[in-house]
Amino acid sequence: MASFTLHGIPVSGGVAIGRAHLITSAALDVQHYLIAQEEAEAEVQRLENAITTVHRELETIWTDMPKDAPTELRAFLDVHAMILSDPQISQVPLNIIRERRYNAEWALVTQVDELVAQFEEMEEPYLRERKADVQQIAERVLKVLRGTAKPLLPVALDEAEQVQMVVVAHDISPADMMQFRDHMFNGFLTDLGAQQSHTAIVARSMDIPAVVGLNNASSLIEQDDWVVIDGDAGVVIVDPSPLVLEYYRTRQATLQKAKKKLKKLKKSAAVTLDGTPVALMANIELPNDCTAAMDVGANGVGLFRSEFLFLGRQGGSNNTPGEEEQFEAYRKAVEMMRGRPVTIRTLDIGADKQLDPGEQTELNPALGLRAIRYCLAEPKLFLTQLRAILRASAYGKVKLLIPMIAHAFEIDQTLAMIEQAKTQLRNTNKNFDPDVEVGAMIEIPAAVLALPMFISRMDFLSIGTNDLIQYSLAIDRADREVAHLYNPLHPAVLQMLAMTIRAGEKSGTPVSICGEMAGEPRYTKLLLGMGLREFSMQPSQILAVKQEVLNSDLALIATKAKRVLNMTEPAAIEHEVYKLRAM
Ligand code: PEP
Ligand code: MG
Repeated sequence: MASFTLHGIPVSGGVAIGRAHLITSAALDVQHYLIAQEEAEAEVQRLENAITTVHRELETIWTDMPKDAPTELRAFLDVHAMILSDPQISQVPLNIIRERRYNAEWALVTQVDELVAQFEEMEEPYLRERKADVQQIAERVLKVLRGTAKPLLPVALDEAEQVQMVVVAHDISPADMMQFRDHMFNGFLTDLGAQQSHTAIVARSMDIPAVVGLNNASSLIEQDDWVVIDGDAGVVIVDPSPLVLEYYRTRQATLQKAKKKLKKLKKSAAVTLDGTPVALMANIELPNDCTAAMDVGANGVGLFRSEFLFLGRQGGSNNTPGEEEQFEAYRKAVEMMRGRPVTIRTLDIGADKQLDPGEQTELNPALGLRAIRYCLAEPKLFLTQLRAILRASAYGKVKLLIPMIAHAFEIDQTLAMIEQAKTQLRNTNKNFDPDVEVGAMIEIPAAVLALPMFISRMDFLSIGTNDLIQYSLAIDRADREVAHLYNPLHPAVLQMLAMTIRAGEKSGTPVSICGEMAGEPRYTKLLLGMGLREFSMQPSQILAVKQEVLNSDLALIATKAKRVLNMTEPAAIEHEVYKLRAM
């Protein structure tokens, strides 16, 4: 096959080289993990048993059928039994388990996807329609397999066994992306998505190269194709020539060396050249991310996106985590951070993070019942979360952060509910820190234009640039079609950041930025120059940002930042920020 190149939106840097693993939306519903060599035969047996069970089920239906049942029904069952006996279903997935070491569900779905693609290409309508039968029979086998599913145990593979794999999909939801976090994939490619979609954010948190918005990658790339991902340029090379491969292997080695060098900064305090301390905090999705945060010497957690505890659960909104489960998760994060503050954001559900995927009814979910709006509409759910967070505050420094807040009555209702949760805890003799600080996310332009309303009621502010940019520039952050309009350096965005930082300084209210912009080293000096002293970002970005802090001369960059704020032409701003970084 000839080599070809695709261009998309770079969302997570670095170079990945591996074999394509295509994932359809059906395949996303099953677990993916590699099994150890010695477990392969047991896994084969598990799939064979499931197939036998389904055979028996079909036989029972057949024999129990009333004599006068329509003949089509019997014919239908016969077709299903035939499909199940066909080596394409009964044998090939077993070979996949043995050869690729996929778990049974993954092996079956991989083969079914392959068959479905073949059926779709058939001219004959009758044969094309058999695709549905294959899917239905596979669904039956998967159902049985689910009953025998084992807990997910990541396998430690030695180096020789490592299979370098790159996920290729049309789209992946943030919840599905979480499934992949403990696995062995080396990169991600999707047709849809944009820079600040939560799927992109999760990819960044995994610190592996990813390119989204590739349009039709999932139909152009075939299973097992060799691909190179250039996560910095947003370029994907399929079936690369030896020369190209060599170039990227060298770049990969160079990047790894640079990463290793950065690690030396782990223990250095983040202070500017003139000795001003800067807090570099971590954004986390789940408590275990605290390991990565501690590994890079984060000063605390600036944003715990608590909604990830709620996503990807069977039953969606009917199966949200209860108080105890949440409390254990928050306490775990607090304990793992060993005395450093942990800022827990209350549930930010909605838009591209739905509790019940597929049941979206809002006309425009980014402007719908999201985040605090959802929580205030579901007081029982909200109180449960508040109690769980407050209880964790008995184990270390916890701060509460409220997302998407824009109205005074929303702030007042939220504060009243926090008091209510405290009373409930007092009544049940549960410990908590009575002085837990409460902060607001500044992510709606209206909040920036009404800062005194927040400052008078809140202990701290945290700017969510991802949403602030989405709402001020009116671009859906997850929509590939408008991704080119996303620009943190838009003069309007810069003015809003400056206004918030300044208002914080004047009133003595701490202000941080926890949107993705905070983790971009190319903006660090600009933000420092604007007066920002607290940044929160993916752990993987902390050391690169620290390096920028360490060679920042505040007096010098403050003057330059002021100049940038007086500029009105985007190209000039871009140029000035580039020069500022080089200072
Ligand atoms: C933001 O909007 O910048 C933010 C940090 O929150 P999220 O990305 O989860 O919406
Ligand atoms: Mg946000």
